[in-house]
Order: sequence, then structure tokens, then C-alpha cells
Amino acid sequence: RMRCEQDLNQYIKDAEENGSEGAFMMIDMDDFQNINEGLGHHYGDMLLKSIAHNLVRVSGIENNCYRISGDEFAVIVHGEAYKELSRICKDLREIFNRPWFLKDEDYYCTMSMGVACFPTDGNNIDELTRKANIALSTAKKKGKNCAEFYNEKVEDTSFYRLDLEQNMRRATLNSCNEFEVYYQPIIEIGPEKNVCCGAEALVRWNSTELGFIPPNDFIPLAEYLGLINPIGEHVLYEAVKRCKYWNDCGYPNYKVNVNISVIQLLQPDFVAKVKKILDRTHIQPKNVTLEVTESLAINDMNRMKAVLGKLKALGVGVALDDFGTGYSSLNHIRQMPIDVIKIDRCFVENLSEDEFAEAFVKMVSELAKTIGVAVCVEGVEERKQLEVLSHMNVKMVQGYYYGKPMPVKEFELAYLK
Ligand code: C2E
Ligand code: CA
Ligand code: CA
Repeated sequence: RMRCEQDLNQYIKDAEENGSEGAFMMIDMDDFQNINEGLGHHYGDMLLKSIAHNLVRVSGIENNCYRISGDEFAVIVHGEAYKELSRICKDLREIFNRPWFLKDEDYYCTMSMGVACFPTDGNNIDELTRKANIALSTAKKKGKNCAEFYNEKVEDTSFYRLDLEQNMRRATLNSCNEFEVYYQPIIEIGPEKNVCCGAEALVRWNSTELGFIPPNDFIPLAEYLGLINPIGEHVLYEAVKRCKYWNDCGYPNYKVNVNISVIQLLQPDFVAKVKKILDRTHIQPKNVTLEVTESLAINDMNRMKAVLGKLKALGVGVALDDFGTGYSSLNHIRQMPIDVIKIDRCFVENLSEDEFAEAFVKMVSELAKTIGVAVCVEGVEERKQLEVLSHMNVKMVQGYYYGKPMPVKEFELAYLK
């Protein structure tokens, strides 16, 4: 860190003297603690060393890579190299697109990066560090695994973020009443007709201060702050309670799907919390499906298998959400004890035009059938798409064609007759 500051000082001076420019980049590993906790510090250290080796091999920054703290690195681009800034960014990102081989397996560890340029964004260390950090936290909020350049608007949004954070803390302390659960029907494809078989619970935040906020705008921050735990528990309880009510009103087989963040899965008491909710509501566990993504499986398959195994032992179902995006692996399907694969809606968008999309859905549904897993396709908006899917082994669909996510009353009016 000291060396980094010395060098940065010098390069800022050089740039001022000869009218050149430079960039200061902060790099932070995403979810590094998963590796540390999952595999042990020894492997964490190994990973940091391999990262360092790879950083200094990027041409143009060989002598300007620094480890700032635990899992944080900094890079300075100055002089001639600055002309190649975008190539350098690309090379840096590519390092993290490959898996790392640790303890006999491939692990992915992505990074987020914040960049501030000198002299435009500042001509002293404090200012550049502050601005690179703002850019870095923007990158994290955008869902990690990306690079952001500082811009003034971001600073405005960081005030918004502070507001969001304070309001979110208040709302969660306030027994989560501002978080409302919407329901989107899930439709089972039958031989004769297609019928509703339940719903996916999707949270919305009706903030008294900030208005209506969709999940994509606050869940990443809620995860970052750990507030996803109380929010997620609230959603799970509300949704399960509601589904039990449907079951008692003449729809004994309606199921409810609830999204579970990886942060929740990593809580040591998560399984106990689910059990408590099942007990309290008296629902039949088979009518609850927890939707999880592959992110934990990527970092620590054994831990993922262990927690899913415990959940399945409670009798609930597990769905693998957003399949086909990110680092999806066919091997995960086989290794994890899942009941449903949810194919991401990006494959449905141009089903009848895009051969790859069609082949993908077909391949995954064939594969799913052989291992006894059901397939649910998301994002069905048109009749045409439904027709293509009806010739495949797709058991369930979800999408605007049947219904958007809606408030509970609206759902019950339409599907509880
Ligand atoms: P997701 O789990 O993939 O949920 C499906 C998203 O696709 C929903 O967005 C839904 O409104 C949208 N969608 C459904 N059908 C269609 C369609 O036909 N066309 C289009 N264009 N979109 C469709 P929403 O409700 O904004 O939720 C976004 C994401 O936020 C969810 O993606 C999920 O990852 C997350 N999320 C929502 N509620 C929760 C929650 O309670 N806990 C956690 N951890 N995450 C949640
Ligand atoms: Ca989902
Ligand atoms: Ca999804």
C-alpha cells in the first residue's frame, strides 16, 4: 500500500509536468470469503498468489500492481500504457473469466473494478482513492463481476445509495411491512389444457420515502448489507402462509416458489429457519419450492450439496433458477439434488428464430427428463413461443402470456375461483 501511494504520487506529478494522463484502478475479489471459508485460508492464499501472478503478466502494468489489503489489489496505468487502457481493462477482466484450479476442482472467483483517472478525476491520492472506491462500489451494486469508471453522476447516485441503505435498514427493523410479495402464476402444461399449479413469490419494496422499488434495484444492495436475511425470511413466511391458505381453499396441490439468495443459503441457521416456518404454517413441505442459483455451487459444490441435502430432508423442493446464464454447468444439474430447472427467459425471447436457443431448451429438457428433473421455462410472452415449447419435455411455463407478477388479491381473484 505504501509503495502504491509513493508511485501514484510520482505518476500524478509526472502527468502534471508533461501533460499526460493515467488511471488508478481498485480491484476487489467478489465473494472471496466463500473460498476462504469453504476451502480454508491456505487455498485462499494460493488463489491470491495466482491472481497476483496473472496481474503482473498483463502488458503495460508489469511494475504497477499492488496488493492493498486482504483481497484487494490496485493497478496504476501511466505513461505510454495509458493509451492502451481499454485493452488493459479487457486483459484484467479476462483473467477472472477463467476458473482457478484449487483442491482438485475448478473454482470461479470474479472481481469488480473501480477506475479513476488523473488528472481529470483528481490530482492527489485521497481524491483518486475516494473516487476509485465510489466506482468500485457501483460495480458491486451492478451485480459484481464488472468494471466501472468514476463519473460525477455516480457520486449523486452514491447519495441515493446512502438514502436507500438507511431506508432499507429502517424498513427491515420495522418488521419488513414495506416489503410486499407479488405472485406470478406458474402454469403446468397438460395433455389437454394448461392449468395453474401455483406461483412464484416476487418481492417488491413499497418504500414510504422512496416509492415503489423493483427487486433488481434493491436486492444486490440488500445482499451486500446482509439485510436480505430478514427480508428473505419475511418473504418466505408470507408466501408459505399464503400458499397454505390456497391449499385449504380447495387447491391442495398449489405450490409456492420462493427465491433464496446465496447469502441466505450461507447462514448457518438457514435450514432451521425454514423448518420453523414449515412448522408454524403447517404447510405440506412438498408444496414449497426454494429457488436457488448456481453461484454457491460454482465456489463450493460440497457446501452447496450439503445445504440442499438438508433442505430436501425437510421435504421441500429445490429449483435451479436462471439456468443458462452466468457459469451454468451441465455437471451441476447432475450433482445437485434438484427437482426443477428453470430455464432463463433469455432463451425464450427469440425461440422461433434462434436455433441455438431452441436447441438449448430442447437439450436441457431431454437431459432433465433422463435424471427425473422437471423443467420450467420462464418469460413466455407469446402463443408462438408456447407452441414451440409444447413439443419439448417442458412441464411448466411462466411469463406475461399467462400473467405478470401481481398483488396477492389479484392473483386470488384470477386463480382461486
Ligand atoms: P427471477 O427469479 O428470475 O424472477 C423472474 C423475473 O422475470 C421477475 O422479475 C418477473 O417479473 C420477470 N418476468 C416474468 N415473466 C416475464 C415475461 O414474460 N417477460 C419478461 N420480460 N419478464 C418476465 P422481478 O419480479 O423484477 O424480479 C427480478 C429478480 O429479483 C428475480 O428474478 C429474482 O432473482 C429477484 N427476486 C425477486 N424477489 C426476490 C426475493 O424475495 N428474494 C430474492 N433473493 N430475490 C428475489
Ligand atoms: Ca426465480
Ligand atoms: Ca429466473
